[in-house]
Amino acid sequence: AKKAPPNAILAPNFKFEDMGIGGLDTEFSAIFRRAFASRVFPPALVEKLGITHVKGILLHGPPGTGKTLMARQIGKMLNAREPKIVNGPEILNKFVGASEENIRKLFADAEKEYKAKGDESGLHIIIFDELDAICKQRGSTGGGTGVGDSVVNQLLSKMDGVDQLNNILIIGMTNRLDMIDEALLRPGRLEVHMEISLPDERGRLQILSIHTAKMRQNNVMAPDVNIEELAALTKNFSGAEINGLVKSATSFAFSRHVKVGTLAGISDDIEDLLVNRDDFMNALD
Ligand code: ATP
Repeated sequence: AKKAPPNAILAPNFKFEDMGIGGLDTEFSAIFRRAFASRVFPPALVEKLGITHVKGILLHGPPGTGKTLMARQIGKMLNAREPKIVNGPEILNKFVGASEENIRKLFADAEKEYKAKGDESGLHIIIFDELDAICKQRGSTGGGTGVGDSVVNQLLSKMDGVDQLNNILIIGMTNRLDMIDEALLRPGRLEVHMEISLPDERGRLQILSIHTAKMRQNNVMAPDVNIEELAALTKNFSGAEINGLVKSATSFAFSRHVKVGTLAGISDDIEDLLVNRDDFMNALD
């Protein structure tokens, strides 16, 4: 029999290792299996199984652990269009009524595009960052404005309407899982939940390796820097903090080439700048 075309096309030559995400490989494959397997099944099989695609996932965990990074890379993996990112607090800052309108428009735009181009329009990903800001348990959104309530209701009704439209995927992100309205977490809504926690030592080593790759490749990292040592010393650091550590180390290296108290006092040997172990130790301090 002729091989059926895949349902949603995985980006060709997709490799997790190339995504610049340290650690999180287990999480990534679990998300893939739980949320996207059906999208790479042949459509006929999906029909036989009588299943629908997962419409929404929720990534939760401490700040700076790579949730946004993960959401964007999922989009790349699925050959999706550039995701629309909606920020919770920003939405709430809008006038009453405008937030609901924004949400309605996000979905309407995707629908319009899909109607015009069909599957060719690709997968539309809508990322809701800091979802807790708009999705606190309804009725508990302080101040009694009720703004949160109607925004959540709008989101719920839009998500429920996605059924006919298999090309929309919602990715919610939050540091506060406990604040998310339970109605949003039910099957058919943000049904796959994944905790993205602080990296362990192996994860930190990978993150350090990613964020020092350029300087190692260009020989501007001194040989006395041992990223394994740094991975051991950065317990409880998030990926964002490790990124910050690397940046801070480079600024310590830079300051060795600047005459104190002057702005124009960058010495001629700036070309010889090397980030060394002391710079990382100073940064760690
Ligand atoms: P927040 O909850 O604050 O929005 P987040 O979990 O979405 O945070 P990101 O915005 O993805 O975190 O991370 C910020 C930056 O930190 C990334 O752009 C990246 O440079 C770095 N980073 C975080 N986690 C990782 C990781 N696992 N691998 C590589 N880099 C990471």
